[in-house]
Amino acid sequence: MLLEKERMNIVEFGKKLVKAKLTTGTGGNLSMINRRKKQVAISPSGLDYSKTRPVDVVITDMAGRIKDGLCQPSSELGFHLELYRTRPDIQAVVHTHSVYATTIACLGWELPPVHYLIGFSGKNVPIAPYATFGTKALARHVASGIGSCNAILLANHGLVTVGADMAAAFTTAEEIEFVARVYYQAKNIGQPVLLPDREIDIVIEKFKTYGQRRK
Ligand code: 13P
Ligand code: ZN
Repeated sequence: MLLEKERMNIVEFGKKLVKAKLTTGTGGNLSMINRRKKQVAISPSGLDYSKTRPVDVVITDMAGRIKDGLCQPSSELGFHLELYRTRPDIQAVVHTHSVYATTIACLGWELPPVHYLIGFSGKNVPIAPYATFGTKALARHVASGIGSCNAILLANHGLVTVGADMAAAFTTAEEIEFVARVYYQAKNIGQPVLLPDREIDIVIEKFKTYGQRRK
């Protein structure tokens, strides 16, 4: 089986997506790239995450040609591939319909630096203009709008995050959903206070050494 490790990751994190309430039904999708083999593993389209097995994950080349797998690939294969082309630093892409990030996206707003955890994305979370799901136009908007951030909102649709590995892309999806919720709630009762750019620079630097260091 091609890309067995990547396939298992996609099955595992698909289940986590539902457990963490980052998506509903079969919404959202996940992928990983193996840059050495120039192949991408992506979740199958419209298949229940709890029923997805490693064999259901679809393997494509960089042009989107199917190399292995019996299922149809995610309808959003286009933006996953486009992101891997434009961002050589990333190995995983996660797309969610998480409620609060999607709420901000339905207002057509970017997510501003209202909480320091915005640093998981960068200085903010930009927004890509609306285009029908699964289209080349959406793929173009996503890849050109993300810049050097690790997250982008999709107008009237949801959220996309990227990372050096699947765990990083998934954590960013969780943290950005948290920031979106806090922003929504703060806006409900007052005017949120935003952090200055220079503070986010400090936070992003500090994230590099946050947590347990391996001995
Ligand atoms: P797929 O099931 O085809 O991945 O589509 C879900 C989705 O979120 C489309 O944007
Ligand atoms: Zn979607």
